Amino acid sequence: MKIYRFPEKETWADLVKRPVFEREEMSGLMKEIFEAVEKDGDQALIQFNEKFDKAITPQIVVSEAEIKKAEDEIPDALKKAIRQAKENILKFHAAQIIEPEKIETAKGVICWRENRAVEKVGIYIPGGTAPLFSTVLMLAVPANLAGCKEIVLCTPPDRNGNINPAILFTAKLCGITKIFKTGGAQAIAAMTLGTASVPRVYKIFGPGNQFVVAAKEYAQRYGVAIDMPAGPSEVLVIADHKAVPEFCAADLLSQAEHGSDSQVVFITTDLTVFTETMDEVEKQVSRLPRNEMARKALDHSLFIVTKNIEDALEFSNLYAPEHLIMAVENFEQSIPLIENAGSVFLGNYSCESAGDYASGTNHTLPTNAYAKNYSGVSLDSFLKKITFQHLSREGLKNIGKTIEIMAEAEGLIAHKNAVSIRLK
Ligand code: NAD
Repeated sequence: MKIYRFPEKETWADLVKRPVFEREEMSGLMKEIFEAVEKDGDQALIQFNEKFDKAITPQIVVSEAEIKKAEDEIPDALKKAIRQAKENILKFHAAQIIEPEKIETAKGVICWRENRAVEKVGIYIPGGTAPLFSTVLMLAVPANLAGCKEIVLCTPPDRNGNINPAILFTAKLCGITKIFKTGGAQAIAAMTLGTASVPRVYKIFGPGNQFVVAAKEYAQRYGVAIDMPAGPSEVLVIADHKAVPEFCAADLLSQAEHGSDSQVVFITTDLTVFTETMDEVEKQVSRLPRNEMARKALDHSLFIVTKNIEDALEFSNLYAPEHLIMAVENFEQSIPLIENAGSVFLGNYSCESAGDYASGTNHTLPTNAYAKNYSGVSLDSFLKKITFQHLSREGLKNIGKTIEIMAEAEGLIAHKNAVSIRLK
């Protein structure tokens, strides 16, 4: 843990920096992986499975028999939990459907927008250190609601060449049948370029480690769109004297256990809460099955004391966390001061895990300070908006002069003529 008591504001810019991965080295690796997938297709994916995931996969396509077997293996309690989470995610995202309104901007000039789904989407489900079947719900539910015609799912195989049964069960529950055993950058390359088995898609969604993030960035060179840079997870907890140290420690650790690259920041205005939370973290971490990973993340975590909540929020806005937990008494007063965050959890009972799994909000969120300029995944992420307009003769007459004057001033006489010819 790195401890800072009342750090000077001039030092904040350094404190908010995330670890950087060698960009050039990463870009070289991406080139190598994309070129191999382009040249050798499925065969390259099979070889990368062996190289990076130590998995032998004669076939990268998940068969119907594998999906059926997975369904039989999942305990009923887990099936029920997944179904309930799906319901809540569906409710929250369905409420984002907005019926387009026709606007008459001038008499006889009617403009409107219509939504169309991105036809072919690819969803990446992380599976390196934990099989994130919850991410299937977070991406497939809004994709289905939007009306995407083709949904392709890629996720890395385990060492036995299998996909976690909960991922397969959840995919089936969401109607996804095109599932492929490929992870990391090669999965992103496959969905970008297409192979004999993996269809090429128009937009790629999903979180992942630094290799996945770098590949999504690289994929854009080929004209594919991405949801956002969603890399190693982060949480920033702001706590006052009313915060509960046990709760704060549990929240910090729930992020730290994601991986050694996770980012964990704790800011408090209360010195007792500060020491008690650090003690609690120490107590709780040893009881976690993934304690080794969590400890590595904690090594570079920040524990900060600030004078007041306003300073804590100023730091948080500069850091722009993926998840922000406001473990403070008067959280309503803080809401207007929050400028940059992916998803915010208010009060002592709003743990991040609620949003990770089942409250209904989306857990695919911008990391690495991208909350300054990106939103998390929502229904909109799967939609394009097409604008339409209809002008009657009277409508064109009403705005014709304006168009003619502006077109002439720009020197675009054909533009002007398109109006004049109709109105002469
Ligand atoms: P992952 O599926 O993202 O990555 C595993 C893949 O990485 C492997 O299949 C392999 O191909 C590739 N890989 C591993 N080592 C490599 C190497 N040396 N060279 C090339 N490729 C290599 O799974 P993960 O590693 O468990 O990471 C999941 C990540 O997703 C975590 O960092 C977690 O914090 C993050 N996450 C983010 C969000 C979000 O919304 N931002 C949500 C959930 C999870």
